[in-house]
Amino acid sequence: MGARMGSDYIKSLDSGPKEIWLGGRKITSDLSKVPEFRAMAHSMAHLFDLQQDENLIDEMTYVSPTSGERVGLSFLQPKTIEDLRKRNVMMKHWADYSGGMLGRTPDYLNSDLMAIASASEFFAKKDPRFSENVRKYYEHVRENDLVMTHTLIHPQANRSVGPGKQADPFLAARVLEKNDEGIVIRGARMLATLPLADEIMVFPSTVIRGTAEDMPYAFAFGIPVATKGLKFLCRESFSEQSSFDHPLASRFDEQDAVVIFDDVLVPWNRVFLLEDVEGANTLQEATSGIVFMSNQVTVKNIAKTEFILGVVSLISDTIGIGEFQHVQEKIAKIMWILESMKAFLRASEADAMINRWGVMTPDFTPLNSARNLFPRLYPEMREIIQQLSASGMMALPTESDMKSEIRGEIDKYYQAKNTSSEERIRLFRLAWDIAGSSFGSRQELYERFFFGDPVRMASAFYTWYDKEPYKQRVRELLHREDS
Ligand SMILES: Cc1cc2nc3c(=O)[nH]c(=O)nc-3n(C[C@H](O)[C@H](O)[C@H](O)COP(=O)(O)OP(=O)(O)OC[C@H]3O[C@@H](n4cnc5c(N)ncnc54)[C@H](O)[C@@H]3O)c2cc1C
Repeated sequence: MGARMGSDYIKSLDSGPKEIWLGGRKITSDLSKVPEFRAMAHSMAHLFDLQQDENLIDEMTYVSPTSGERVGLSFLQPKTIEDLRKRNVMMKHWADYSGGMLGRTPDYLNSDLMAIASASEFFAKKDPRFSENVRKYYEHVRENDLVMTHTLIHPQANRSVGPGKQADPFLAARVLEKNDEGIVIRGARMLATLPLADEIMVFPSTVIRGTAEDMPYAFAFGIPVATKGLKFLCRESFSEQSSFDHPLASRFDEQDAVVIFDDVLVPWNRVFLLEDVEGANTLQEATSGIVFMSNQVTVKNIAKTEFILGVVSLISDTIGIGEFQHVQEKIAKIMWILESMKAFLRASEADAMINRWGVMTPDFTPLNSARNLFPRLYPEMREIIQQLSASGMMALPTESDMKSEIRGEIDKYYQAKNTSSEERIRLFRLAWDIAGSSFGSRQELYERFFFGDPVRMASAFYTWYDKEPYKQRVRELLHREDS
């Protein structure tokens, strides 16, 4: 099939039977017709259509080495730095469409799967079939351009002990039995963003390390969302109907759901790792999956910071505050964040090397720095929008107000320095969707946590970083004998 059109995605999204729970309703098919999902489904469809845009097709797709069809460029297994650049251009097109507000454009997990499959030998250690399974899964997803979601974290019941020591050993998803057909999984995993997907990858956490007693919880597999016994319990929807009132929430609520495995059979050909704590602990690093995910996230964060820079610059112009020094300083801070993220990305490209699986891999040090810094910087950018907008974010007539008889007064009293009242209201409603609304709050929580607990990520970074050359330089000075 190759790179899909939006209509292909909608068709597969609407197929069933799935089990998606939203606000007490069980939805089994026709997901794109559910009011809370409709806009997101169409935003995703637009991303697929971009792949077929005649001006973009060469930047969005490449020729599959197996089928000869054009497939999505985020599946490309890079061999050169030029390949990495091409991947980044493709990912930027998708990220720009939502101003970086979609965390789960499919390139995020496509990049992970590409890296994992390129390192398929890693999975052969326990069972040679697992290596073959990973490779075939990657080709299946690539050739059919499937959308993936993923889930890594055990439910948040008692974080002071691991999954095996919870009051209920089947709280966290674990192997119930192995039989001729595959493995049966019972329990839950906490959080999968984008349940509007074709497939789910159930993988070990990139940060939390398991111990020997976590054996039944140490696995990796990929199965269709439409698998018997697999249930997604969505959070309250933040999707809004009016794109005037909520320019982001009306388009980009990608949803997050708890995943319940009600004795789900995972066929053997979809199992990648099983009862292998060491493999689970090292999977993402050993395969470079974490590097390619960090690469995609950095591209997305550049798009997001550019978008926010545009918003604050327009706010400044609109209400005439650009002359004030503290305003300039705050906007400059966003510029520094942007330039830092761009520099991290370029450094990762410039120092890329072929990894042990033969894949041209960006340098992880700058990308690892970027993925640790951004969760700390994003809340500050949100705060700057609040500080610059002030009560402007409360003076927000709705689309209905704009169509009512009070419109004349709105035009008079909502005027701005250099733009119409309507433009000003549209801009401040956008600012509210980033810095105030439920959608905006969820964005902040997403940036803080989606890659893992920032505290443990920082700790892992601290341990991983080679401090020795710098300590040695200090030691050398301390013992230097000046002539
Ligand atoms: C919007 C959003 C979308 C997400 N999407 C996905 C997704 O698609 N797939 C997925 O797998 N996950 C997803 N996540 C989950 C994400 O991986 C987790 O939020 C992250 O790993 C942190 O785990 P937790 O939320 O369970 O927090 P917890 O681990 O429960 O932490 C709660 C608090 O306790 C502290 N704490 C807990 N244990 C320790 C410890 N051992 N040492 C020090 N401090 C500790 C933490 O620092 C934190 O302050 C998403 C999260 C969010 C918010």
